[in-house]
Amino acid sequence: MSRSNKVNQVILIILDDVRAEHLFNLMKEGRLPNIAKIAEDGIKCFNCVTSYPAITFPCYGNIVTGAYSGYFPKEGSGIPMYHWVNRMDPPSTSKKFPFIRNYGDRKYVLKVNKDIGKNVKTIFEQPPEGNMLSSTCFLYRGAYFVLAENFFDVEPIFKNISDVFQNPGNYYANKEVPLITVGYVPHTDEIMHKKGFDHQDYINLIIECDKYLGFLMNTLKKTGYYDSTAIGIISDHGNFKAKKLFDLEPFFQKKGLKPYVPEKGIGDFDCNFGSVGFFNFPGDTWHHHPSIQQMQKFKPNGVGKHELNLIDTLWEIPGVKYMYYREDNNKPEKGIIHIEYREKSSEKRMNGMIEYQGFGKEQKTRFTFDGDDFYKYSEIEKSARILDNKFHTIDEWLEATNQINFPMIVDQIPRYFKNPRSCDIIVSTLGDYYFNYEHGKTVGDSPYSHDNGLRESMIVPFIIGGSLEIPSKELSYCKTTDMVPTLLDLLGIKPNTSVIGKSILDAN
Ligand SMILES: [Zn+2]
Repeated sequence: MSRSNKVNQVILIILDDVRAEHLFNLMKEGRLPNIAKIAEDGIKCFNCVTSYPAITFPCYGNIVTGAYSGYFPKEGSGIPMYHWVNRMDPPSTSKKFPFIRNYGDRKYVLKVNKDIGKNVKTIFEQPPEGNMLSSTCFLYRGAYFVLAENFFDVEPIFKNISDVFQNPGNYYANKEVPLITVGYVPHTDEIMHKKGFDHQDYINLIIECDKYLGFLMNTLKKTGYYDSTAIGIISDHGNFKAKKLFDLEPFFQKKGLKPYVPEKGIGDFDCNFGSVGFFNFPGDTWHHHPSIQQMQKFKPNGVGKHELNLIDTLWEIPGVKYMYYREDNNKPEKGIIHIEYREKSSEKRMNGMIEYQGFGKEQKTRFTFDGDDFYKYSEIEKSARILDNKFHTIDEWLEATNQINFPMIVDQIPRYFKNPRSCDIIVSTLGDYYFNYEHGKTVGDSPYSHDNGLRESMIVPFIIGGSLEIPSKELSYCKTTDMVPTLLDLLGIKPNTSVIGKSILDAN
């Protein structure tokens, strides 16, 4: 091949739900010797910013594509969230009502391959040629997909990759080893939700991943590929422990709000709510998003002629601090997202606004607010400077806000709301309250999650090493969508135009 490449193969390992702080601390303690070996002479960043909301989808899909949610009929990924209502722009004319997608249901998780749409490409679809391997990476479009047979065991995820490198002829007609491999470990997330980031079982599982990664590195050495392979390690989001749990079912019952039933097209709202709540309401029909006025004068079905102001109603949910919703008649290329904020329930609500213009890499956003700087960007000099009433790109927001809570959120909120599958109102308690509420039911009692915009959820590890061709450097910040273009750059391949991240090989 006539490429100006530094390496001949890349292997990306995505460990679900690992904070940068936790992974690097375990490395410092000498408990992850293999990951430490990869980081030692390679690229590392302790401060990599993931997508908002910090939930597996969009975050993990955005890593694999190097892109974000957006107006997917034209640009960006079709997946705004882990749960969404399938509304279209323009609204569908079909008699069927929009379905609810929930990737928590294992039957539907592989639908992500179609749901992301054609305007973004997975890392496997971006090179002009070469063998591609997905080891339990559910977003595998363009790759040979091997699923770990025993789903409760992380070893096969690494072992399957070893096997393909030892016997490529069993998988590919040209008998060549894969150019690009992605291995995805969902188990770390499952244990984190059940037991917590501070539980020994969670820590042991990360240590186990390191051990099996070591076995894979040995296979690469024995087969002679190690020196020409780049190994990337990243996570989709961090985590937190909520302060209070609360059952929301009675709240909605009291308000007369009935959950949406897509099969029948009835119901007043759809919602999933950890510490960040995503609320969908019908407009003219369930195919239409409501206008602000329709949400302010909402008539729940089942409670006579009684009118409900949904914005005020959602503020009655305990612990709510932030609210986001669209201005009417927003366009994909230009629009306004309203922000409301309150520190305590006794305090008056304050207002802010994000204006956006442009698509994809060209998207620029401006943040303005009345009264208090509720993201507290003015607390440090670097982020204070971006409160200049001007429009800024994603990389300008990243540069300015990577040291503080709510990193990059001003860029991320419009990318979410541009998607016709996004909800109508987001509310956030920042992890103060946690509801475990999904589509009409309270489904659990774990206080551990990762959806908020604080650093604990938003900052993940970013490591690339292995081959000595990889420059040794420590980055002061980067973003998760930089992983794919950087790995492609190491292979001498130009990323697809849909990629929003950029190669950090030349970054300081
Ligand atoms: Zn996740």
